[in-house]
Amino acid sequence: MIEIDGSEGEGGGQVVRNACALSLVTGTPFRITNVRGGREKPGLMRQHVTAIEAACTVGSATCDGLTVGSSEIIFRPGQVVAGEYNFSVGTAGSTGLVLQTVLMPLVFADRPSRLVLEGGTHNMLAPPFDFIAKSFLPIIDRMGPTVTARLVRPGFYPRGGGRIEVDITPAPLRAIDCLERGALVDRSALAMFAGIPPAVADREIVTARKLLDWPDEAFAVRELPESQGPGNILLLEAAFEHVTEVVSGFGKLGVSAERVAQTAVSRMAGYLASDAFAGPYLADQLLLPFALAGGGTFTTVKPSQHSYTAAAVIERFLDRRCGFTQLPSGAHRLDVR
Ligand code: AMP
Repeated sequence: MIEIDGSEGEGGGQVVRNACALSLVTGTPFRITNVRGGREKPGLMRQHVTAIEAACTVGSATCDGLTVGSSEIIFRPGQVVAGEYNFSVGTAGSTGLVLQTVLMPLVFADRPSRLVLEGGTHNMLAPPFDFIAKSFLPIIDRMGPTVTARLVRPGFYPRGGGRIEVDITPAPLRAIDCLERGALVDRSALAMFAGIPPAVADREIVTARKLLDWPDEAFAVRELPESQGPGNILLLEAAFEHVTEVVSGFGKLGVSAERVAQTAVSRMAGYLASDAFAGPYLADQLLLPFALAGGGTFTTVKPSQHSYTAAAVIERFLDRRCGFTQLPSGAHRLDVR
């Protein structure tokens, strides 16, 4: 039984999700104490409970302590069974984070799976659907499997009600190297909103346009049905030959539209100023598939605490080492060996 102190490193939900995925793939049980001990409100939240329940369902696993607020869980994995699954995060919890938990186990299964995930699709502190579809999954596809995701209905916090569908066709995961992003091929800025004044999205676009030296046709506003709101996100996308970076600014009560745009633009500017392959979010999310592939290398702007923590959890389950090396350009190279 692997013992993990959930307050170490980043001390958040990613420790729990990565541990579940690794446990299902390796067949090794684990216990986490101090679950999400690094967070202001520690313990499992609804969305973590749903993610672990999803892991139990696809992996015939059991989990003691699986309640909202729980600070200790014991997870015992079983056989991963491919199939059609529907998981609903009762609140507007992130569908993307449920996907993070079960994707790798299902990629290692012996036949295809289809997932229907309901909840939030564009949540703060979680990968928005567009990031999953355009940044993350194309790299998984390059490693062998075919994973396609469709946004059926967006869901914002606090209402939720979003739905994504994911088709997973397994194949052996190949170790790959992702060192070059290639030439810039496209850029876009999209302000999506539902059930809030359209002027908010317009102001985000005006601000983003001022700050980014991008062509006029790169900027767009999309109004969603009022029933899907209230909600707002500004998505900035830079598509390179070998990777697409998607950064976001999340609209929130009390945060000005200008501020939302500045946050997203400064994230994009940080990425564009570097020549690294992966932005900080993509980096922490690639470590798990790279480790399960048995190796591989990618460059990233600057490793986040999430990346260091993911590496530490991976090293507990697998005989792999994740090396972080700063390059003369200022970018960092992550080697999984
Ligand atoms: P945790 O904070 O431990 O629950 O982990 C959050 C996860 O969501 C990490 O894997 C982050 O990389 C990911 N994440 C958070 N915000 C974003 C974002 N704006 N875009 C993409 N991924 C994100």
